[in-house]
Amino acid sequence: MDIIQVSNLKKSFGNQEVLRDVSFSVKKNEVVAVIGPSGSGKSTMLRSLVNLEQVNGGSIRVQDDYLVKDGVYAGNQEIKQITSRMGMVFQHFNLFPHLTVKENLEIAPRVVKGEASSDIRKMSAELLEKVGLSDKADAYPAKLSGGQKQRVAIARALMMNPQILLFDEPTSALDPELTGEVLQVIKQLAQEHMTMMVVTHEMGFAREVANQIMFMDKGEFVESGTPEQLFTNAKFERTKSFLHRAL
Ligand code: ADP
Ligand code: MG
Repeated sequence: MDIIQVSNLKKSFGNQEVLRDVSFSVKKNEVVAVIGPSGSGKSTMLRSLVNLEQVNGGSIRVQDDYLVKDGVYAGNQEIKQITSRMGMVFQHFNLFPHLTVKENLEIAPRVVKGEASSDIRKMSAELLEKVGLSDKADAYPAKLSGGQKQRVAIARALMMNPQILLFDEPTSALDPELTGEVLQVIKQLAQEHMTMMVVTHEMGFAREVANQIMFMDKGEFVESGTPEQLFTNAKFERTKSFLHRAL
């Protein structure tokens, strides 16, 4: 079953075409790594999935519902409902600085879903334990390391019980010694069969954890395959030369 199916997606900023006819799908329980040079449209593609950018053409289907079909968007209520099935983790964490770690986790389910406080508290405690930050529940983000902030951001995204987690370069803002702890959390989620799409420059991680790797260049999905296929037997010269430079 597809969680996300994207077809012929097009997006321009002014007269610059940033996504050219992008098509792909992500199946349930799959981990997809998206790689490609800076400026190739990876963030724009991910942001389009959660409606942080609006596309100019093509379709995005999430499970059985279209966020946008042949360039025509669903209604506002439906858009909210559809995008709430996806959790997003950003490069720069985007935590609320004036809220504690626990409050960062609890605010969306409280406000958006109006769930019972006891259920929300139970879930935030469980998720903080999962990412190894139970002792930071009452700390403010400013007191945390980058790696800890990103683990909070992952736990926060999980609070909404998403069908898929989207990561946009989750370790690119971190000092090298802190990337491991974040990749470890994502690896653990992969072992639990969380469906994920991860834009990353960490080739070792992509090779080890992804079921499918997609290579983007200049707004196009050039090719995708299993890590083995792509790393040892890429079809296109630009994939080969990117991998050659990245490894
Ligand atoms: P990547 O994530 O692969 O580095 P992006 O999706 O961020 O690529 O950017 C793709 C292209 O779109 C780049 O040329 C970038 O400058 C441009 N771009 C991204 N966001 C905007 C924006 N809000 N306004 C204008 N141009 C943008
Ligand atoms: Mg980007």
